[in-house]
Amino acid sequence: MATDVQVRDFLAHWFQLGKPVVLPGGRGDYLPRPVFCQGSYSQDFENCWNQIMATQGQDCYLKGTVQTIAAMLSPAWDVQDCARCAMPVSIPTLGLTSFPCPCHDLLSWPNQDIPVPRGAVNDQRHLEQVRERLSRIQGQSMAAPQGTYKTEGRAVFSSWRKML
Ligand SMILES: [Zn+2]
Repeated sequence: MATDVQVRDFLAHWFQLGKPVVLPGGRGDYLPRPVFCQGSYSQDFENCWNQIMATQGQDCYLKGTVQTIAAMLSPAWDVQDCARCAMPVSIPTLGLTSFPCPCHDLLSWPNQDIPVPRGAVNDQRHLEQVRERLSRIQGQSMAAPQGTYKTEGRAVFSSWRKML
């Protein structure tokens, strides 16, 4: 089973190679730019992740792959490194995979001439700082239920419902 940390890392790697995620409800492709900001995920990446999580990843997948984000977060799937290009790929926990790495349709990949995609978190110290900041943010949003995040979340949800 892939954790949400692994799935975010998986998406971040592929976003850096220009692979968008396909959002549910006919909302089209989403490719956050930039992927990172000051050593952690960018606001646009977080916005993309919130849209994915609006349906818990149902009907949402990395373009060029078949398994949904929801499936990746289930016990049936895991994230490992592709044997061909060392990028993170999702594979079934049981049995052999017949699903190719998303690199299969990137003709210019692997490519030694471009920067190798990386994760947002480079060391343990940084990870702790992110955790601290996250717990502060969570504390703030609980103290202020009318914050922008909640308002925006409701707006996205109601416009999503109208499309159904
Ligand atoms: Zn690959």
